[in-house]
Amino acid sequence: MCTTTDCVRVASRIHDAIDYKVKPCDNFYEFACGTWKKKNVIPEDKSAYSSFDLVADDVNVILKNALEDKETEADIEPAKKAKRLYRSCLDTEKIESLGTKPLDDFIPKIGGWPVLMSSWSDAGFDLKDLLVTLAKYNNWPLISLSVYTDMKNVDKNILYLDQPSLGMPGQKYYFKERNDTMIMAYENLAVQVATMLGADKTVAEQDMKDMVDFEILIANISVPSEERRDSEKLYNKMTIAQLAQNYSEFDWLGYINSIMSSPKIQIDITEDEEIINYSPPYFDKLFSLLNNTPKRTLANYCTWRIVRHRISSLGKAFRDLNLEYSKVLYGTSTESARWKKCVGKANSILGKVVGKIFVGEAFDEAAKADMLKLIGNLKVAFEGQLFSNDWMDESTRKAAKEKYTITEDEYFSNIINFIQESVAEDLRELRKPIDKTKWSMVPSAVNAYYSSTRNEIVFPAGILQPPFYHKNYLKALNYGGIGMVIGHEITHGFDDQGRQYDKTGSLRQWWSDDVVEVFKTRAQCVIEQYGNFTVKEADLQINGINTQGENIADNGAITQSFKAYRHWVSQERNEEPKLPGLDFSPNQLFFINFAQVWCNSMRKQSAISRVLTGVHSPGKFRVIGTLQNSPDFAKTFGCPVSSYMNPEKKCKVW
Ligand SMILES: [Zn+2]
Repeated sequence: MCTTTDCVRVASRIHDAIDYKVKPCDNFYEFACGTWKKKNVIPEDKSAYSSFDLVADDVNVILKNALEDKETEADIEPAKKAKRLYRSCLDTEKIESLGTKPLDDFIPKIGGWPVLMSSWSDAGFDLKDLLVTLAKYNNWPLISLSVYTDMKNVDKNILYLDQPSLGMPGQKYYFKERNDTMIMAYENLAVQVATMLGADKTVAEQDMKDMVDFEILIANISVPSEERRDSEKLYNKMTIAQLAQNYSEFDWLGYINSIMSSPKIQIDITEDEEIINYSPPYFDKLFSLLNNTPKRTLANYCTWRIVRHRISSLGKAFRDLNLEYSKVLYGTSTESARWKKCVGKANSILGKVVGKIFVGEAFDEAAKADMLKLIGNLKVAFEGQLFSNDWMDESTRKAAKEKYTITEDEYFSNIINFIQESVAEDLRELRKPIDKTKWSMVPSAVNAYYSSTRNEIVFPAGILQPPFYHKNYLKALNYGGIGMVIGHEITHGFDDQGRQYDKTGSLRQWWSDDVVEVFKTRAQCVIEQYGNFTVKEADLQINGINTQGENIADNGAITQSFKAYRHWVSQERNEEPKLPGLDFSPNQLFFINFAQVWCNSMRKQSAISRVLTGVHSPGKFRVIGTLQNSPDFAKTFGCPVSSYMNPEKKCKVW
């Protein structure tokens, strides 16, 4: 029995979450998290609450204290900036005293918002000019332009052209009835904002209705996410000259060149420049839609998208409108505490330096060495999976092995670049060599990711904490926690999307056609299994197609991590001790900690949003779906064949 303080503490945490009335083989999620759910009420300012949020709350308090420390001479310049940004965000008195003035001054600079103007005329209106102006503020309505690694030539950056994101959380929100409460809440938000900025109410109602009608049409011509998982299909490389030929209604060269040659970017673009059109079906239909839409509506819509982003930094009257909208869309009934918002803001804009403060305050260097060992063991376990499957041919198998041995410990460097650079900085990348040390997550994030074009896995310091990891935890808990996360990210390199990229991160079919077919059949099993789960909070089925990548990653991870743990035990030649007050074997604790990482409660609106827009299954089904497929789990808990947690039919990709 382990009786150290850390063991006592974690035993109590595990015990407090379990619902002992539920049998593990009947519903392992309810068993592991039943009491957690009863004890943790979703805060009024949140749409859902999970183990992840508990960790993030602790991280926020650490960041708050650091940002509130007095500025000193020793602070580096970005640290001073972060503290200043934080303080200005907290200064609500000043924000209130300015009222609508910041927006009143800003809107004319971008050409005015027709709904506010008695004299707007479409005579001088040029859509291209408006889009160019909005791009400077990182707003991309109608056309999304960005710079990113060329998926087929990963040493170079290239321009990507894509369909835009929308004002509501996702495309499917626009497919409801026209008078659906969520759509009406969105329209009403626009009407209220316009009115508050001085619009005539009747004009605002008509204009914003036309605008939402138009946005619904944009949603309708956009390609749904289910059809955007095949990278080969999305990758349509062409020159700007060809683009202009395909869609002659728009001045592409003028548009792209005006953005790229601006003083902050200074890159000249000619018609020979290559660009990847990521959504031809959208652009095929866009221009006839634009031609059939009054210019007033186009101008109202594009300007609305930027106004909508700006209102959150204004006073309470505007934030109340936002809250009204959030109530309907997310079920939240209060704003977050101001300091939390401001920590979030400082972290999103100056994440690198704020993260550095966090790492200095809370990160144990020993964790880094420990993590490297864990990753090494997980890789060995995954190699075993690659070599024991009977559906890959020898040459694909060999190439697959090479894919995951290419990168080493560079992910652990906590010196990273700002993740949220200005849009100019992002676009300037076009002519720069690829920076492989750049992260796309802040160090304080309680999260991790896999990048297909870099073929790398990244674990920010934020996730190297309980319940995922603690240096004094039983290894069973660490393998069930962070080990699962590592295995998940490794497996992403081999899910339905990741498998399309080779070991250098290049988009290329490196599997034989036969192997691809077997993979698809195996993935189909996962699609159907998860697609049959009903999320009862939303009364909707999980989208098996959109979540398949994440589900495949979870399933590969549980097998790998358990195997890696058992390998570790066999090397130690000794089973780990039990925890005080808990009658569970270390193997059982592995699965319990895995499940408890996913304890969560969701409001109805959050459940709807997850199902309609998310790529992850809700926590409950990440636990149930994964463990239903795991023979290791069934054996560890002695689940009879055909019990809910041990169905006869099991899906296995990796
Ligand atoms: Zn994932």
